[in-house]
This record gives sequence, C-alpha cells and structure tokens, in this order.
Amino acid sequence: MLLRSLEMQGFKSFPDKTELNFGKGITAVVGPNGSGKSNISDAVRWVLGETSTKSLRGSKMEDVIFGGTSKRKALGFAQVMLTLDNSDGTLKDHDEIVTVTRRYYRSGESEYKIDGESVRRKDIHELFMDTGLGSDGYSMVGQGKIDSIISAKNEDRRELFEEAAGISRFRHKRKDAERRLDQAQENLVRLLDILGELE
Ligand code: ATP
Repeated sequence: MLLRSLEMQGFKSFPDKTELNFGKGITAVVGPNGSGKSNISDAVRWVLGETSTKSLRGSKMEDVIFGGTSKRKALGFAQVMLTLDNSDGTLKDHDEIVTVTRRYYRSGESEYKIDGESVRRKDIHELFMDTGLGSDGYSMVGQGKIDSIISAKNEDRRELFEEAAGISRFRHKRKDAERRLDQAQENLVRLLDILGELE
C-alpha cells in the first residue's frame, strides 16, 4: 500500500487547500525551519485517527486548526484527506484507491469518512489495523520513536510485533467481546435482582 496524495485545508500552517502528490520511490520534503514540514507528517497521523494532542505537538485538539496570522483570520475547521493506493489489496474488500478524511471544528465536532462515506473513528482504526499504518502503527517513525521502542515495556513492544504479524485485530476483537460479555453479565445480575423483587 502506498500513499498517493495528501490534501490539507485549514490544517495548522496550511489555511488554503494544499495537495501533495507522492510519486513512486522516495519523497523528501525540504524547507527552512518552521516552514511546515513536520505539520505534513502530523496531518498524515491525524487523518489516520491520532487523538494524542501531545504527539501532534499541541496542547489541545483545536491547535490543529489554522490559528491565523497578522494578515489572515483564524479558520473554523481543519480537514485532511489522505488518498492511498491499495492496488496490492492490503486493505481487504476495498477498491484500488481508498480515501480517508477527517474534519474537526472549533466547536469540538469531528467527522470521519472512508471513500466519502461518513464513519466512526473506530472504523478508521479498524481499517488500518494490522497494516502498520494506523495512528499507533509503526509506519510513522517520528523523532524519539526508536528510543521509545527500545525502552518500552515488554507488553508494549509485543503490541508492535503483533501489529507486524497481523494479529492485533484479534486481540482488539477479543477485548471488545470481553467488554460486551461483562456488560451482558451486569445486565443479567440487574435482571435477576428485579425478578427477585417481583417474586
Ligand atoms: P523544523 O525544520 O524547525 O522542524 P518544520 O518545517 O518542521 O520546522 P513545523 O514544525 O511543521 O515546521 O511548522 C511550524 C510552523 O507551523 C510554525 O510557524 C507554527 O506557527 C505553524 N503552525 C503550527 N500550528 C499552527 C496553527 N494551528 N495555525 C497556524 N500556524 C500553525
């Protein structure tokens, strides 16, 4: 799976709609300090569902929205759309071209889309699970990431290997099933209490 293009609008230092196309081979982004190079990788992580404001180098989610300059007013929302080349079929049951979109308003409202259809953040998370590309995947190697992997606890490092082996989807499903089972047990206890009162 390859990145085809990234479209940002109102995201950090990109107030206008800005599209970057990634060709075959290696793409290098060069520019002076503070010109927005890291904001591009932030945009990729953000559209993939990143929720940690710290790893997006901000203090609150609103910080991803263009905050204005002396010449330009702040904007009301940020949007990023990532287009992926899925011709190798990494994303099963999806077309050769897959787009994911995330929009965030100052009001705190979020919107996510896969191929133009509104979805939940959970769906984006599940789409990229086991591909290594998700917001917690290993495809994005930021500053300090290698150090954090080396010094991580064994269980945390294991999650990385599980993602690479393509089995983190099952761990996630098991956790989800366990949570729903616990909920059902609680409902059952409550129901038995009510039945006991009625008898
Ligand atoms: P360096 O080479 O020093 O690491 P860089 O090219 O990676 O720099 P970034 O860190 O991507 O630069 O961009 C920093 C710039 O983005 C700063 O000028 C900052 O003011 C601007 N910026 C960040 N968030 C916003 C925002 N919400 N609104 C407007 N500008 C923003």
